[in-house]
Amino acid sequence: MAQFQIVSDLHLETPQAYDLFEITPIAPYLALLGDIGNVKDEGYLRFLEAQLLRFQIVFLVLGNHEPFDSSWTTTRDRLQQFAEEIDRRRRQRRRRPSSLASTSTPSPQAPSLGEFILLDRTRYRLSPKVTVLGCTFHSRISEAQEERVSYALNDFYYIQDWTVEQHRAAHEAERAWLNEQVADIARSDPHHKIIIFSHHSPTVTAAAVDPRYVDSPITSAFATDLAGEPCWERPQVRLWAFGHTHYNCDFTDDRSGKRIVANQRGYSFAQSVNLTSLTMTSISRVLRPLSRTAASARLAARQPLRTRIIPSSTQAFSSTTRRRDVDLSGLTPTPITFLSETESLMAETVSKFAQEQISPKVREMDEMETMDAAVVEQLFEQGLMGIEVPEEYGGAGMNFTSAIVAIEELARVDPSVSVLVDVHNTLVNTAILKYGDAQARRTWLPRLATGTVGSFCLSEPASGSDAFALQTKAEKLADGSGYKLNGSKMWITNAMESGIFLVFANLDPSQGYKGITAFVVEKGTPGFEIAKKEKKLGIRASSTCVLNFDDVVIPKSNLLGEEGQGYKYAISVLNEGRIGIAAQMTGLALGAWENAAQYVWNDRRQFGQLIGTFQGMQHQLAQAYTEIAAARALVYNAARKKEAGQDFVHDAAMAKLYASQVAGRVSSSAVEWMGGMGFVREGIAEKMFRDSKIGVIYEGTSNIQLQTIAKLLQKQYTR
Ligand SMILES: Cc1cc2nc3c(=O)[nH]c(=O)nc-3n(C[C@H](O)[C@H](O)[C@H](O)COP(=O)(O)OP(=O)(O)OC[C@H]3O[C@@H](n4cnc5c(N)ncnc54)[C@H](O)[C@@H]3O)c2cc1C
Repeated sequence: MAQFQIVSDLHLETPQAYDLFEITPIAPYLALLGDIGNVKDEGYLRFLEAQLLRFQIVFLVLGNHEPFDSSWTTTRDRLQQFAEEIDRRRRQRRRRPSSLASTSTPSPQAPSLGEFILLDRTRYRLSPKVTVLGCTFHSRISEAQEERVSYALNDFYYIQDWTVEQHRAAHEAERAWLNEQVADIARSDPHHKIIIFSHHSPTVTAAAVDPRYVDSPITSAFATDLAGEPCWERPQVRLWAFGHTHYNCDFTDDRSGKRIVANQRGYSFAQSVNLTSLTMTSISRVLRPLSRTAASARLAARQPLRTRIIPSSTQAFSSTTRRRDVDLSGLTPTPITFLSETESLMAETVSKFAQEQISPKVREMDEMETMDAAVVEQLFEQGLMGIEVPEEYGGAGMNFTSAIVAIEELARVDPSVSVLVDVHNTLVNTAILKYGDAQARRTWLPRLATGTVGSFCLSEPASGSDAFALQTKAEKLADGSGYKLNGSKMWITNAMESGIFLVFANLDPSQGYKGITAFVVEKGTPGFEIAKKEKKLGIRASSTCVLNFDDVVIPKSNLLGEEGQGYKYAISVLNEGRIGIAAQMTGLALGAWENAAQYVWNDRRQFGQLIGTFQGMQHQLAQAYTEIAAARALVYNAARKKEAGQDFVHDAAMAKLYASQVAGRVSSSAVEWMGGMGFVREGIAEKMFRDSKIGVIYEGTSNIQLQTIAKLLQKQYTR
């Protein structure tokens, strides 16, 4: 059995982030599929060497970024030297008996180095039955793409002496080389398995790779079409993994039986000789927007009440893998609240950011009932406003659980900031990502991920729980150029900060809820106004507004998805969003609990002892903490089920119901535990208590959650 971890496109060169990225080994072999960074930079080689201390073999395929500010020749030479140096050190270690140890040679205790294989038209026999072939696989560039590619190669990448013609020639040579190698192996052993690693895509269109990515901009110049070519067609080629695409896919081609894996950053699978057992796990991904703070965040002490830094053996599943293709029988299930390395990094980084940057402002923002603009700006800078948005649109390209972790960590410090991030990510971004066409995604996502806050506008004066009774009307303009909206929305979160409003309106009331359609309205569109900002019991820094739409004309392109499908979109994103609110409530409960625990166990004495040492208090604290842990288990279970593509609706409803109840109970108790200090507006105890109440109201009241849970249970249990 040969097991690989595959990582590609880390882009660790600007700013240099080699030391921030750790790949936790869960397989003996690592395949780095290009665009790791700049080879001229010594950090790159240290990064490789660090991997050699962890893996038995490290395979490297060059990508566009390696010769950055250099030439392909220089890059290859440098890596070749590195390979020779590694080889020399490995041989030296093997030859030298330990009795001859001297200071000029490595000590016997020096960690052993793995083998380094530069896959540059390289054929590597991994076992008697498996061979690895690898090359950059420079792509075929069409005439129409010449100008763009030429600009990219020479001006953007600064690859010296590298022209489109040379690129084409390299491509042809590599294509011929791959065909020749595959044919040669097939001649000598028709049953020998072949693995191909490349950086550039072997297909021109995303659709050819995986229909889910039909709208992906993979149709860039850096791809080619291998239809009919032996290296692509032969069933002997059992796996083709490549980078560069900036989207993930993993599927088995029905015709050739070939497994095709694209750009799976943080990904591992087991490749047995007969390829029957495939096991995948997510390992890690660099979080570029967070990389600026990640180093210090790692060092930051976490609050002592939770230990959730994962052991290196933790195997959490990528949201992007198709789990039905995967045999998980060999894996020991991990506790549900364990996080992957990336998710852990997210938790640590957000926790540190919240405590250092948000915490000092919480009281004032609450008193002023205003969100500090600098905080919103920092949220964008930290990459927290495009957590699941793919990098091609300027987001962090992370999974849903990462968003959940961020929402929870923010709520621990300020539930108002948390809901801003929650609504923006889990409702607005998700709706556009899931239901927007390619143009909508290109138009809105980069803005939402990098600088413009979004609002989700469903509720109205007459429609809350009965959301689809909404009265806001949309009509088509006579010339077909767009739509006109009339009506008003109520209780819209983020409205004061937002520039983009996702608005649900009925385009055909005769169809009832089936007329509901989703539109994007930009701030400043004539006829659109924020009519009133609500004054509230809790989450006061979060803006909640009434919006009016008075003959608001929007272009056709602002329709989201299809007409009449808005109710489906709203249900779907709200189901996911509820997990976010559940995370917010879990974080709030923990924040309230921790605040009180610090006080009762460190500060306040009565009857000559710390009040937290009375058994009556201890039992309450223990009970509350247990409930928080139970809420978290529900939240993470719902999140993981959503990521795994399983039905999660009742899990989300249970998580939201229970977490909001726990938040209410714990934050109320926390006020009591702190006595008068809990009641006054000095600390955060009374604020958390006030903030907790919203959890049982928005994104479906508790009664509505109970209704959902009961309905689904009844369906399940009715004979
Ligand atoms: C601070 C805040 C922020 C918000 N943010 C947004 C936002 O960004 N976007 C948005 O679209 N909306 C938002 N909302 C609206 C929110 O989703 C609604 O308030 C919520 O869905 C409840 O609707 P309602 O207030 O009309 O209550 P109602 O629907 O009038 O309910 C009142 C009570 O009746 C109960 N009830 C209603 N129907 C039933 C039933 N069938 N069975 C049993 N009990 C029932 C409810 O459980 C509740 O206890 C926000 C609200 C607040 C307060």
